[in-house]
Amino acid sequence: MKKVGVIGGGQLAGMMAKEAKSRDIELIVQTPNPDDPAARITANPVLSAIADVNATQKLADYCDIITFENEFVNLEALKVLAEKGTCFRPSLASLEPLLDKADQRRYLQKIGLPIPRFQVLEKDAKINSKYGFPVVLKARRHGYDGRGTFILANKNALEALWNRLERPSMLIEEFIPFSCELAVMAARGVNGEVVVYPVVETEQENQVCRRVFAPASVSVEVNAEIQRIATILLDRLQVVGIFGIELFLTQENQVLVNEIAPRTHNSGHFTLDACDISQFAMQLEAVTGMPLHSPKMLCNSAVMVNLLGFENSQSDYQNKREQLANIPHAFVHWYRKTESRIGRKLGHVTVLLGEKNKEKGNAIAQKIESIWYE
Ligand code: ADP
Repeated sequence: MKKVGVIGGGQLAGMMAKEAKSRDIELIVQTPNPDDPAARITANPVLSAIADVNATQKLADYCDIITFENEFVNLEALKVLAEKGTCFRPSLASLEPLLDKADQRRYLQKIGLPIPRFQVLEKDAKINSKYGFPVVLKARRHGYDGRGTFILANKNALEALWNRLERPSMLIEEFIPFSCELAVMAARGVNGEVVVYPVVETEQENQVCRRVFAPASVSVEVNAEIQRIATILLDRLQVVGIFGIELFLTQENQVLVNEIAPRTHNSGHFTLDACDISQFAMQLEAVTGMPLHSPKMLCNSAVMVNLLGFENSQSDYQNKREQLANIPHAFVHWYRKTESRIGRKLGHVTVLLGEKNKEKGNAIAQKIESIWYE
């Protein structure tokens, strides 16, 4: 039995743990809180902060391979473990250019992938937008679910925000008036094979993902361009594991890379129910050295809706979950968090559809949201 250690213990590690059980893999997580979703359903979690390298050493002493649930790791400290022989998959070298949004943009530019125009703003520099307004300001690290991403309407708003944040080094980039947002999950195995999931359309509200439609209704050319981007990126980084790639489709049908998540991703949750192999199983197969096969959808289309916290509460919303489960072909995934907070991801629902019909997908998403947020 292979032992896989995961740095992180939230819902992504939790969903991976369920896949590990049916694959003869023992999964051990490192996470600070015993109530975290993955800590509650796995044996012997290492209860320590994500960036605590001594805890990761303990995890590494027990496991064959260490993988990641999130990118909030202390790479410099982990390098010491790698030098002593810990096997990280993906490797620290393939994560290095991605953890800081400014480094990530520079790296994508260097390897020739299409991205929005950007500038790295140094600490205390004179702030200005070369790109007109609105303009986008982003924290270089530790942003997620839109925290750390700010869309500013004018010069006053830009200056006021930057001063309020105490003028740190940040990324400033052009606002893309996209026709839609897309995302794709792609994995690479130890032998270098790259497999790519169907491209999906994502819908964000206030910079947080609310809905995912799989597959996206985009042209053959756009699909091919996204396949090309995913393959170049994973090959150049020599990735072993799965990555999520978030993209903008411009009104001129140009694909731009917004962000790389070097791990499983919310936009890939539909794969649990709608594909022959989920993103979590794919990550496990990749990091344990199994040959990878191209994933296929089991239905014509699917819609995934996030269940976000809308109040501070300790309810488990059983009644709402039952109503959601009664929607035909619905799969309700509940992360068993002990507390609901506004905006917190508490679960998701995927509904499988017999046809490719965005209007139908929209209607189902609305139904789910009207039950959840009623
Ligand atoms: P996070 O790391 O928090 O997910 P992102 O960089 O992915 O932050 O941004 C979150 C959302 O903000 C995106 O999905 C998109 O809706 C919006 N956004 C980010 N950058 C831009 C941009 N340059 N132009 C237009 N919208 C943007």
